[in-house]
Amino acid sequence: MIKADEAIDIIIENTSILSEQKKYILDCIDYVLAEDIYSNEDLPSFDKSAMDGYAIKINDGQEFEIIGTIKAGDYYNEELQSGKALKIMTGAAFPKGADSVIQIEKVDVIDNKLIIKDKVEKGLNVIKKGCQIKLNDLVLKKGTVIRPYEIGLLASLGYDKIKVYKSPDVSLLITGDELVDINGKLENGKIRNSNGYSLHALVKNSGANPLSMDIVKDDKEILKKSILDAFEKSDIVITSGGASVGDYDFVEDVLDEIGADVKFKKIKIKPGKPVVFAKYKEKLFFGLPGNPLSSINVFEQFVKMAIFKMMGKSPEYDYIDVIAGDNFENAKRRTIYFYVNIEKHEGKYYAYKSGGQSSNSLKTISNSNGLIILPEEVENVKVGDFIKGRFLS
Ligand code: AMP
Ligand code: MG
Repeated sequence: MIKADEAIDIIIENTSILSEQKKYILDCIDYVLAEDIYSNEDLPSFDKSAMDGYAIKINDGQEFEIIGTIKAGDYYNEELQSGKALKIMTGAAFPKGADSVIQIEKVDVIDNKLIIKDKVEKGLNVIKKGCQIKLNDLVLKKGTVIRPYEIGLLASLGYDKIKVYKSPDVSLLITGDELVDINGKLENGKIRNSNGYSLHALVKNSGANPLSMDIVKDDKEILKKSILDAFEKSDIVITSGGASVGDYDFVEDVLDEIGADVKFKKIKIKPGKPVVFAKYKEKLFFGLPGNPLSSINVFEQFVKMAIFKMMGKSPEYDYIDVIAGDNFENAKRRTIYFYVNIEKHEGKYYAYKSGGQSSNSLKTISNSNGLIILPEEVENVKVGDFIKGRFLS
């Protein structure tokens, strides 16, 4: 049995970043940029007015003749002559010959005569070409995670497609003869398949693509065929259930038979001790425990790190210091992930129990907004102790 940190190291070592693809920018949110983006133009690409006002040569005096209007999108072809003014709207191209824009509030207009009331400085209210971004500037670095804030920037520079790292295709194989689907009848020892749905949602939420969510019978040959088929079409194959030592737990046998390279079978954690991680022809395999909270926890702590690495993201979470609001026990001395409620009081974060942590308590995790991690060396965390935690996303 290996430790949680070792398991993460092994997963990261055995996971490679996926290849690049060109994608339409609106499909790139949460993807990682696989190229440096340079500007092919100045932004803005012309001098423009920052205000609604009048374009003038400021040293021409106090009185001007208004000879026309430039609205946004228009272009004034001639050069503005001394003593003349052009009414100009915000965002409109600044005319040649002028040097300033005087705001509407600072002038009087009588017929087509403009009279400046205040003394104003030269260069006022003109946004210069290239003042935001210059031609050939490096705008976004390779490795940047694309957020909605980057989308507009890319659009403003004329990039409709960018190179990003692919996100992994993930197949979910949900094992168990006891399972019926959501609408199935609960009779004679059957339970509903909740893991398939939790995992599908988790895969999606992590940025990867859930390809399928098939219920697979507890039959070695059927499982073997399902796993081999899934490897054909996916970057990651995840099974739920069948990973421990029961009579009908076939995951390990199947991996042996197909010659997969099993890296580990158990992690010293709670919830979710039985976890199989294997490699098969550069594809990754995760065998998750069937218990609902365990399978979610193993996905959150381990599978997600592989997905992040494949997508070019940093394979780690940002943790915060949290103060225990309750006592937490670690009798079995494993790394324990406690799903909790984190509350903020006077600038500090406090963690409170949100329900029983038995492996099948989906209600507890639904009542939680965060988790804390008890390292295996720590037997008891007492009220007031500092502990590592984070909010769930
Ligand atoms: P296993 O890992 O296959 O031994 O399953 C452990 C426990 O998790 C058993 O009580 C199963 O009934 C339950 N379980 C297995 N798969 C699922 C599933 N897809 N949804 C909900 N519970 C499950
Ligand atoms: Mg089972």
